[in-house]
Amino acid sequence: MSKHDHGFATRSIHAGQEFDPTTGAIIPPIYQTSTFVQDGVGGLRGGYEYSRSANPTRTALETQLAALEGAKHGFSFASGLAAEDALIRTALRPGDHIVIGNDVYGGTYRLINRVHGAWGIEHTVVDLGDLAAVEAAIIPGRTKLLWVETPSNPLMKISDIAALAALAHRHEVLSVVDNTFASPALQQPLSLGADIVVHSTTKYLGGHSDVLGGAIIMNDDELAEQLGFVQFAAGAVSAPLDAWLTTRGIKTLAVRMRQHSANAQAIAEFLDGHAAVERVYYPGLESHPGHELAARQMSGFGGMLSLALVGGPAAATRLVEKTKLFALAESLGGVESLIGLPAQMTHASVKGTELAVPENVVRLSVGIEDVADLIADLDRALAKVLKASAKH
Ligand SMILES: *Cc1c(COP(=O)(O)O)cnc(C)c1O
Repeated sequence: MSKHDHGFATRSIHAGQEFDPTTGAIIPPIYQTSTFVQDGVGGLRGGYEYSRSANPTRTALETQLAALEGAKHGFSFASGLAAEDALIRTALRPGDHIVIGNDVYGGTYRLINRVHGAWGIEHTVVDLGDLAAVEAAIIPGRTKLLWVETPSNPLMKISDIAALAALAHRHEVLSVVDNTFASPALQQPLSLGADIVVHSTTKYLGGHSDVLGGAIIMNDDELAEQLGFVQFAAGAVSAPLDAWLTTRGIKTLAVRMRQHSANAQAIAEFLDGHAAVERVYYPGLESHPGHELAARQMSGFGGMLSLALVGGPAAATRLVEKTKLFALAESLGGVESLIGLPAQMTHASVKGTELAVPENVVRLSVGIEDVADLIADLDRALAKVLKASAKH
């Protein structure tokens, strides 16, 4: 039975999840072990030797991750940035070059700029909506990766994965898509021509704000072998319990993403035109510049949205401190709603760079609570914002 023949929700639940042959336990156990007993030197049972090289709980998650993106190879890491680090050190050498979008996750930029930069890897930041600029940024023979993130964080810009992947291929550059915001339930970059998918599984895949993790997913056998070597040799692997929690979260990904999207759409429509709100950034709104492209390359608009406040940074700060259900916290993608001020929080590391975010922008990670309660929470907090601005 090939898991790839099934639909997305079925694959999310069954890929890598064979029941335990010794007890019949429907859920594969958490193999909380560092090492494996050998039947004589080199006599491995099922190929397992030491948990840095492989652990059955991680194997189960990696099989599931590959199936989610319809791919051959999945690799799981201790965090999204650990996954990105392993990929970059696999695909590049000192003197090589990366082209990255001007609104990638701040931590990705920091990793490439400050960690890999110190080891001689160079980068150029471009607007991924400008294909001519992307092409011009590619240095023949030196550019190895084109790093795409769509929808972007926090301004929800939509980039054309198929067009960018085709452009990268023409120049023998690998295209990478950070698919964290959409999740594979809503967007399948490999089927649009991308070479590699990256996830912070900390977000929608885990889905319950209780575990960190990252993933790299691809079809290329040779690159997969090289990445597998770096994963083993450098060792930033996910621990068994973390892998198990992520697997558990993934099983409900399809239904969660439907509800995240429905709630975010209703909230975007509520905020659009509100007296305290200057602008709403949500691809599900027809007024969003990426709406048509998003409708084409995604099967839902997701649970992330941002808004700019009429009252500037002070109003933005007030809003994030006044909501009750929306908790003030970094991160995203959990069942509970979060609110944040990117310029001071998630994007503090890119302050003063070309990736800086306007200071009156508030980001929402819309959870799957009752949407009427979420709207009432925002309505009350926005009324306080308006009242405070009227006093000044
Ligand atoms: C959170 C995040 C990352 C980094 O993942 P960690 O699990 O925090 O290391 C990368 N990309 C995006 C889009 C993210 O939201």
